[in-house]
Amino acid sequence: MIITDTHTHLYSEQFNEDRNDVIQRALDADVSRFFIPAIDSTYLDSMLQLEKDFPENTFLMMGLHPTHVKENVEEELAFVKNWLDKRTFYGVGEIGIDLYWDKTFLKQQQYAFRQQIKWAKEKKLPIAIHCRDAFDEIFEILEEEKGADLFGIFHCFTGNLKQAKQAISYNMKLGIGGVVTFKNGKIDQFLNEIPLEHIVVETDAPYLAPTPFRGKRNETSYITKVVEKLADIYQISNEEVAKTTTQNSKDIFGI
Ligand SMILES: [Zn+2]
Repeated sequence: MIITDTHTHLYSEQFNEDRNDVIQRALDADVSRFFIPAIDSTYLDSMLQLEKDFPENTFLMMGLHPTHVKENVEEELAFVKNWLDKRTFYGVGEIGIDLYWDKTFLKQQQYAFRQQIKWAKEKKLPIAIHCRDAFDEIFEILEEEKGADLFGIFHCFTGNLKQAKQAISYNMKLGIGGVVTFKNGKIDQFLNEIPLEHIVVETDAPYLAPTPFRGKRNETSYITKVVEKLADIYQISNEEVAKTTTQNSKDIFGI
């Protein structure tokens, strides 16, 4: 069985003390493909180090995270573009709009999202979307940018059935993580109406640990709790969930 974690920040400082153990636990749990979203320029060195240490398992993305869009947005975007031109990345992410923490830079967030979508299209790369309290704003831009060259993952999808269908209409897979295991997470209520072909699994480690680890540091091996929950929702085996969602990840990332 091969489980693919399509969104994990294994380079985070929260893993500095025990990163090798965390990754060994993932490998022991059959989680052997890690797709690594970027945040901003300050994290690149640790991302490259992770890739150097685990070249077989690690697939890096490049992008500017919406909560890190600030006054220096032009500088940060130039950094993203420079690196996208310089070497192989497997996606542009995570990018999007986040109005939960701060609305100050909404205009800049919209601009950065549009710009990075354009680069993804030029490079024929998928995007990894971060959306928090911003479905309308995100959909507005996807509506403008939609087409055969726009595709990717709606990371940490927490919307309703209508929003799920709309995301899928833009060639997005739904990134399902720990929230699906939460009692009040709601997405488990309608997910069986969405074919598994549209779903990928993720942890967003170190954030959003699934039940029974909710509130603790998340790690990639905990993705098995998400796989088990999906097996329950779709009434199929864990192996079948792993197989289909890994195939979906290959269709998106091309590897
Ligand atoms: Zn993330």
